[in-house]
Amino acid sequence: MAEFELIEKFFKNNGGRADVILGIGDDCAVVQVPPQHQLAITTDTLISGVHFPVDTSPYDIGYKSLAVNLSDLAAMGATPAWVTLALTLPEADENWLIEFCRGFFTLAKQFGMELIGGDLTRGPLSITVQAQGFLPEGKALRRCGAKAGDLIFVTNTLGDAGFALREKILEDRLNRPEPRVRVGEKLLGIASAAIDISDGLAADLGHILKSSHMGATIIVDHLPLSAALKKSVSADKAISFALNSGDDYELCFTVSPENENLISQISHDTNVSITCIGKITSQKTFTLQFENGKTYDGKITGYQHF
Ligand SMILES: [Mg+2]
Repeated sequence: MAEFELIEKFFKNNGGRADVILGIGDDCAVVQVPPQHQLAITTDTLISGVHFPVDTSPYDIGYKSLAVNLSDLAAMGATPAWVTLALTLPEADENWLIEFCRGFFTLAKQFGMELIGGDLTRGPLSITVQAQGFLPEGKALRRCGAKAGDLIFVTNTLGDAGFALREKILEDRLNRPEPRVRVGEKLLGIASAAIDISDGLAADLGHILKSSHMGATIIVDHLPLSAALKKSVSADKAISFALNSGDDYELCFTVSPENENLISQISHDTNVSITCIGKITSQKTFTLQFENGKTYDGKITGYQHF
């Protein structure tokens, strides 16, 4: 099949959003942003053997390529709308494409997104997705707003995806992260700063601290760990995975103490557990300690891209 036939067969006519004036098939897509809203735009490339193991199923590759972008929209509090896809394939394998599209469009549909354009080329397998979402004017959740005394929260559990990379269990947590879009939307006007955890809690919270010119104290025995992770490794190892391993795609955010009571309602409404793990400090240090005050002296790393 030629490029245009493949696009026609696999990618055209999805979504049907009214705000897509012109979708796939012209030189550009043309879309309508709602009044009093801004556009949040993010892009991520996934390369076979770098961002996912080479034996990952095409369904999971399709799912994850969109999920990681949705996670960035969630971290800003944006509501997903449109997506573009640049796909480089070693060959035009229709069975591969059917499965890839099943993973990709399952998630797109779940969040009401429409694929509005892209590119299809031949080469080593790589997937670049750009996702776009709406934000009420001036309301974006940024990394720079954390204040001394703010409480630090994370969604769900940490460390599972990193553990799945080493031991072949908990693989759904690695391959099918659940972007916390609904939590992000509800945090607008409530959280003072937010980020999604792609490179590990320590590294990503570090970005909030740097942008906000603040420090933090983390209580390591408050880090939310899954029963499966706790069962598989020692308590120290589990804490290390939670702090240092990437690919969780959970949210980390800060909230002033007067908004603290709103968080359990958000957790209830979205059916996502949310845990307080520490506090922002004006002293610019990153302190890790146990609840009993003892210092945690494990190594801190976090995923490095280069
Ligand atoms: Mg991010």
